[in-house]
This record gives sequence, structure tokens and C-alpha cells, in this order.
Amino acid sequence: MKLNVMVCDVCKDRDREATSYRMTKQGKMISVDLCTEHAEPIEVLFEQVRASGVTPKRRNTRSAARVTTLEDIEKKKG
Ligand SMILES: [Zn+2]
Repeated sequence: MKLNVMVCDVCKDRDREATSYRMTKQGKMISVDLCTEHAEPIEVLFEQVRASGVTPKRRNTRSAARVTTLEDIEKKKG
């Protein structure tokens, strides 16, 4: 017997088994419980990310920033 019945946050159907999902959006953590039907869009996204070989993690945007060295500037001056 389950004391804490997790229900889907969308349909609130107690007969459906819900899974808890935690996501972070712009630093805010969102926790949602979703049944198989309503979790489908998320599962589809997971599969797409997995298929593309990308590990879902925080991207370091700073390292991607373009660095111009003094040497480059000197070269441009020619
Ligand atoms: Zn649902």
C-alpha cells in the first residue's frame, strides 16, 4: 500500500502511475510529476538528445567566447 500517491500534475489521474521530473530553468528548479502520457514530450526530448550524442549538462558559454589576442591585433595592423 502506497501512502504517498504521486499523481500527474496535468491530469491528476490517481489511476495513472506518475514519474517525478526535475528540471532547471534559468536557475529555478521545477519539479513536476507526470504520467506516461503527459511525460511523453519530455521523453521524446530525452531520446533526441541521447541520439545526438550530447550529454545534457550546463554549457560553459564563456569558453565559447571569442578571444582576440594582442598578436592577432598586430597581425591585422600588418
Ligand atoms: Zn497526466
